[in-house]
Amino acid sequence: MWFSKSIEESLAAFEVSPAQGLSEAEAQARLQKYGPNALKGKKKKTILQLFIAQLQDWLIYVLLAAVVITALMGEYTDTIIILVVILLNAVLGVAQEVKAGNAIEALQKIASPKALVRREGTTKEIRSEDVVPGDILILDAGRFIAADLRLIESANLKIEESALTGESMPATKDADQTLPDPQTPIGDRHNSAYMSTLVTYGRGVGVVVATGMQTEVGKIASIIDTEEEVTTPLEARLEKLGKTLGKLAIGICALIFVVALLQGRDLVEMFLISVSLAVASIPEGLAAIVAIVLSIGVTSMSKRNAIVRRLPAVETLGSVNIICSDKTGTLTQNKMTVVRYFSLEGEREVNHGNQNEASEGAEKLAKAMVLCSDATYEHNEGTGDPTEIALLLLADDLGIDRQALQANSRRVGEFAFDSDRKLMSTLHEEDDKYTVYTKGAIDNLLKIATHVLESGQVVPLTEQHRQQFNQATERMSGQALRTLGAAYKPVDTVIEPEEMEKDLILLGMVGMIDPPRAEVKASVQKARMAGITTIMITGDHKNTAFAIARELNIADNMRQATTGQEIDELPEEEFNQRVQGYRVFARVSPEHKVRIIRGLKSHGNIVSMTGDGVNDAPSLSAADIGVAMGITGTDVAKGASDMILTDDNFATIVTAIEQGRNIYNNIRKSVLFLLTCNLGEVVAMFLTLLAGWQAPLIATQLLWINLLTDTLPAVALGMDPGDPDVMKERPRDPQESFFNGIAGWRAVAGGFLIGGITIFAFWFGYYEHGLSPFDDAVPVETVQNARTLAFMTLVACQLYYALAMRHPLKSIFQVGLFSNLFLLGAVALGLLLQLAVVLVPAMRDAFNLRMLDAQGWAAVLFLGLLPLLVSELGKVYLRARQAKNADPLAA
Ligand code: ATP
Repeated sequence: MWFSKSIEESLAAFEVSPAQGLSEAEAQARLQKYGPNALKGKKKKTILQLFIAQLQDWLIYVLLAAVVITALMGEYTDTIIILVVILLNAVLGVAQEVKAGNAIEALQKIASPKALVRREGTTKEIRSEDVVPGDILILDAGRFIAADLRLIESANLKIEESALTGESMPATKDADQTLPDPQTPIGDRHNSAYMSTLVTYGRGVGVVVATGMQTEVGKIASIIDTEEEVTTPLEARLEKLGKTLGKLAIGICALIFVVALLQGRDLVEMFLISVSLAVASIPEGLAAIVAIVLSIGVTSMSKRNAIVRRLPAVETLGSVNIICSDKTGTLTQNKMTVVRYFSLEGEREVNHGNQNEASEGAEKLAKAMVLCSDATYEHNEGTGDPTEIALLLLADDLGIDRQALQANSRRVGEFAFDSDRKLMSTLHEEDDKYTVYTKGAIDNLLKIATHVLESGQVVPLTEQHRQQFNQATERMSGQALRTLGAAYKPVDTVIEPEEMEKDLILLGMVGMIDPPRAEVKASVQKARMAGITTIMITGDHKNTAFAIARELNIADNMRQATTGQEIDELPEEEFNQRVQGYRVFARVSPEHKVRIIRGLKSHGNIVSMTGDGVNDAPSLSAADIGVAMGITGTDVAKGASDMILTDDNFATIVTAIEQGRNIYNNIRKSVLFLLTCNLGEVVAMFLTLLAGWQAPLIATQLLWINLLTDTLPAVALGMDPGDPDVMKERPRDPQESFFNGIAGWRAVAGGFLIGGITIFAFWFGYYEHGLSPFDDAVPVETVQNARTLAFMTLVACQLYYALAMRHPLKSIFQVGLFSNLFLLGAVALGLLLQLAVVLVPAMRDAFNLRMLDAQGWAAVLFLGLLPLLVSELGKVYLRARQAKNADPLAA
């Protein structure tokens, strides 16, 4: 039991030095020996299981019945064709499911937590799976613990262990304890930390004592269900739509059967036709198409730095009309440089690269900034918070020997930074004397300081001093500089963190630049064109925030900026009323973010919010789209988010919204295409039967059409490249249905057109032979000729029509005929297969077709293109109408 052993014993047992950590070679060897640090998940379904699952559908059962009936009747060709259709359908279904599943799994891998380890003397982030026993693991607030640890260092370390103990209050940890009682329950093992628990506060270091299934969680959860089935609202809606339309289709098929019965037609043939029509017209593939298009979409989003964690987010992205964004690192580069510093001795510029002459006061200021810091900067490389790295460089510029300073001054206590206090304090021992150093937001320091350093003397802080500091802050922040103050106080002994930030002696402050990211201004503009408002939410000073917001065209008037304090002063209702007028929220803490989101949402806005810290989880959950930072974000923020930005960049959010809109449009295109095609088939069959004609298509032909047009072209439509003009449209109303506006009518019109043309082609087959479908005794060849014409025309109509579906307004040339090669390929392949059915004699016989004559081919060619042509002409009219509406003079 490691908690009963001392730190030294534990380290010795794993043969590791805490300063060096394991060597890479040793870590590799241990990884071989102990295996990856992962909990074994539920076994994935095998391909065979997926395949069998595909067959468990009542439509398939009906088809299987058809197989038996045709076999009993000796119609073996039909039997084989139906069987092939069933198998091919299942294979395609499995392929889609596997592809969609793989894409989601790959994303989950990218988004899974990482561990911070010390190896070969340096600290680095590795995949949690690669952690091995003996690794030295560094813990910081917001991070999930990757393995079971015996702690070797702890500084105000608090860990939330509810995953193991059920206790939601974080447990306080202390590495220095040794617990002799081997029966100590997990909740009381203060010197240990466990896999899957969460650091909520402070810092710590531990040596890994167990990984993977050997850990405490591993022991409890021997089987963890990692496979979480997610159905997005869209999928659910479409499934429902599919069911409704399915019932309708079955109703019509049953009606056809009854009518046929009354008309005294061949029962078995009519049964087969009804069943096949049901199979062909029931849009059973809707949800599958959504899943596959979504998975293709999120994979392409991940290539552009946006990892979607929850699939429904893709749908919501298209409706976002407000982006709330952090400032530091997201809108700005997070490359801080101190350009100026201020103390009561005056304000000085920093000369980079040159040794600046530093007064005693300036030296003290820099000393506080260096000691009260977790960053490092060696050999031109920094680790840690860029704000702190900039402060280390300031010390270098002032000619201060940081190494000597840090070596002489041992840190014996600390009060970690948090974005509520906006302060950080450390306690140091130097020559048996103790000093607290505090740095942070100058306004907060002014509240807790009682004295100030003036010309080397500690004097009481007067109103005049405050004014001097406030003026300096106004000056610096007005020029977009980020300000940070420092203070100190001598104490007699080691004190508790809560005692540190009181009665401080103010030293001075610095101003640093953090230039905006180059691409952000254009992104803000692009978002505005797309009807999306950008709002800056930051912990930084109001003036600094506004100056940067103005530079980026987020705000143009100081009245559009407010602060956390001002929010606190407003009653909820009044704040909610005013909230839409602000573009900059400065000096806010994480709770304010939740209020801001609630206020914005109360006006019906769809809001995306960024976050990175431990306390950001509530606001990320409250937002419609919670966006976590991939680089600076904590595991907690990532866990609460819908999407992660791997580059922490604002521009990526805008790109993701654009992609979200395109993905939604693509799904919509696929679905409308499927419904149009299916309607066409139903119309052709139903009207002809009502008229007392022969069926224009027989069972096997219907099944073939289902296979050809419902699969590849529909998926290929979903892979359409984005519409470059999609960001000129307004955000989509989340309540809006797929059939909004004229989309529904278009599907109905398209369906009737395709159905009507098919009927015409069927009629033409009789006409060619000098007969009519109303005639009684018609030779078999004529019926076969007519069916071949109908069959070929219907498929051609559907395949060409897929091209028209790519944009509701733009012509196929404006969209770019060759911009979706998948679709062209799918159409070409469909046409080839369709030709093969007629041209290859064996296939022709199997499908009961006849070779067409020249006239017949010409008819197919012309009629097949007709729906595409009509649709394109319709678009010309719609474009003209739109241009007229957009042009006020023409109205
Ligand atoms: P954003 O919220 O847009 O990322 P931010 O980085 O300024 O902006 P916080 O990190 O919450 O937001 O910082 C808020 C304030 O806290 C800063 O303006 C600064 O005064 C202070 N601060 C930031 N980092 C530190 C630090 N490492 N130590 C002490 N104080 C800090």
